[in-house]
Amino acid sequence: PATLGMLGGGQLGRFFVMAAHELGYRVMVLDPDPHSPAGRIADHHLAAAYEDTQALALMAQQCAAVTTEFENVPADTLAYLSKFIPVRPGAEAVAICQNRMAEKGFLRDQGLPHAPYAEIHDEADLSKADAALFPGILKVARFGYDGKGQARVANRQEALAAFRQFHGEACVLEHMLSLDYEVSVVLARDENGKVECFPTAENSHSRGILDVSIVPASTSADLAGEAEELAARIATGMDYIGTLAVEFFVCKGRLYINEMAPRPHNSGHYTLDACVTNQFEQQVRALCGLPLGSPRARSGAAMVNLLGDLWFQHDPHHAREPDWAKLHTVPNLKLHLYGKHHARPGRKMGHFTVVGDDPAQVRQIALEARRAIGIRDE
Ligand code: ATP
Ligand code: MG
Ligand code: MG
Repeated sequence: PATLGMLGGGQLGRFFVMAAHELGYRVMVLDPDPHSPAGRIADHHLAAAYEDTQALALMAQQCAAVTTEFENVPADTLAYLSKFIPVRPGAEAVAICQNRMAEKGFLRDQGLPHAPYAEIHDEADLSKADAALFPGILKVARFGYDGKGQARVANRQEALAAFRQFHGEACVLEHMLSLDYEVSVVLARDENGKVECFPTAENSHSRGILDVSIVPASTSADLAGEAEELAARIATGMDYIGTLAVEFFVCKGRLYINEMAPRPHNSGHYTLDACVTNQFEQQVRALCGLPLGSPRARSGAAMVNLLGDLWFQHDPHHAREPDWAKLHTVPNLKLHLYGKHHARPGRKMGHFTVVGDDPAQVRQIALEARRAIGIRDE
């Protein structure tokens, strides 16, 4: 069987390995952590840096194609590999998604809706930024995730202080929208340009980290359809091949694109249990040049993230495994643990999904289940 390459060994890579194995492929994972969740179940695990020339040469030689599970892969790594084997998504698409400035510039050039923003390279950019951008959010252009590298700023002075705290790193200053709620679309696009969107999910966050995703979203069918269309335009505009996620704000009934992720996404985990084809199988299919599977949801779903905090609810100094049996007794609940050895507050350790036809009811059951293992409602 052919071997597929995966850059990154986190939980997204792990689900990719599982999907690839189910479809009859082998996987080689590159991740510097010798205990990475994906690396531990892969057929080959290269525990080396992403710039390691020996590891990359081996990958280029042994893999039929390569993909990634995180956006911060060094551009040179993708460029090197693409000289030998297909790299999907390609370096240009990843470059757009890994830099908020490039990302916003892309949206602007494509005429796609996004929050008003300004590029901040230095303090002078801040002094001349439009007053209408305040209150705003200052976000570092690179390497931010889970709300890290962001500061909410009421005015210019606060923005200046935040910019200095980020050591003058390039940032974008975004206007703070008053959100009705947030949604996301995960899709796959194949090498012939065919796009298949999964149903739009509605997301709520807690302390900057995704907390719960619900499908179908409580938005109108029109708005959900519009989100899927916008996401498809983004994929086509980047000539994207693979699984792509697009996050949206809904503000006064209108959609604004927040950001893109060039990979499967936490808010698409519900596809594992609710859809005919899940987001990781689509990633394998797009990577291998196979036809995409049906993204149809067989039912509604509510997905709840399980963070490491849960391990410390009884004792802040010693991690203790939660009582999973309390979840296994709930009908239509599917638990997915990521095989991480060490729990840390804020670390994504697993998730569970409740499937069912009535979205209000699955949400209710999911929230009750998480109360049962000790997670308080926000
Ligand atoms: P992720 O883990 O999704 O990659 P991130 O660190 O890249 O997160 P964003 O998605 O940019 O961060 O922002 C995190 C959250 O902060 C958003 O989901 C939203 O709740 C809030 N937020 C961000 N930008 C804005 C904005 N312009 N107006 C209102 N709320 C915002
Ligand atoms: Mg992000
Ligand atoms: Mg985000």
